[in-house]
Amino acid sequence: MWNDKRYHTLDYELKKIFGEKTIKLSIDGGFTCPNRDGTIGSRGCIFCSERGSGDFNSDRNISITNQIREQKQVMSKKWRSNTYIAYFQSYTNTYDSVENLRKKFYEALSCTNIRGLAIATRPDCINEQVLELLDELNSKTFLWIELGLQSIHNETAGFIRRGYNLEQFEKAYELLKSKNIRMVVHLIVGLPAESKEQYLETIKYISKKEVWGIKLHMLHVLKNTDLADYYDKNNFNILSRDEYINIVCDSLELLNQSTIIHRLTGDGKKSELIEPLWTLDKLKVLSDIDKELRSRDSYQGKNFSL
Ligand code: SF4
Repeated sequence: MWNDKRYHTLDYELKKIFGEKTIKLSIDGGFTCPNRDGTIGSRGCIFCSERGSGDFNSDRNISITNQIREQKQVMSKKWRSNTYIAYFQSYTNTYDSVENLRKKFYEALSCTNIRGLAIATRPDCINEQVLELLDELNSKTFLWIELGLQSIHNETAGFIRRGYNLEQFEKAYELLKSKNIRMVVHLIVGLPAESKEQYLETIKYISKKEVWGIKLHMLHVLKNTDLADYYDKNNFNILSRDEYINIVCDSLELLNQSTIIHRLTGDGKKSELIEPLWTLDKLKVLSDIDKELRSRDSYQGKNFSL
């Protein structure tokens, strides 16, 4: 239905918008996070890696321009295209003075062939001043904002030490929606504090919201995280590949067809990943999702209802 896929992929959507393959360049803007600098917490979310979930990014000590240059070189070995989105991925990319944010975002936009910006942040870091800047950027370029929600359940949020509640997510959602700014929501599958039913409640909640896109991640247990210690002590159940694929297909069936699927499986650095090791074979996971949808004769939105 979306070229050769049974779900609405980001690749499909960006090709439709820009007319060719669009490549995301991951950037470390040099920011921190209120859940790490002591404002909300100092140990971060329980699963957060040392690089603030930006493990494949360039060195944060080099300029945005040079990071973009470096990333373009890396990506040119994989793809032949000159259309790029600068993706501010590591830590919380709206957690700084508006002046500094403005400088970094505009530096990225001034680089050759950068056609848009993707900015990952936390809902509690979208205030009126930040919103004003985002609104301005949205009028000038192709912009989307990524929000790490992970789960709608406040008890899960407590377990993962997310440091904000669902009401704060809803407030940020309304602010961004009021300015027609595209939102992408991150959710984690396989959290130890949650049942499959609870996870699917989160999917149903998101499917009723006007979000532009969604990223699903299998929970990764990475070295040197508090989750790794917790796993060591409690040896909680890690989903098998088949269980994960089934849950992803159930999720796709529940999602509105207009919701763009940015990711169905995460990238864990081989040297850092403790579990689940099956996620390292990303292509196999994706092809098994396709197979499962075919065998169900199913597709995104099959079970969607408002
Ligand atoms: S909000 Fe993001 S950067 Fe901050 S601690 Fe959580 S995962 Fe890490």
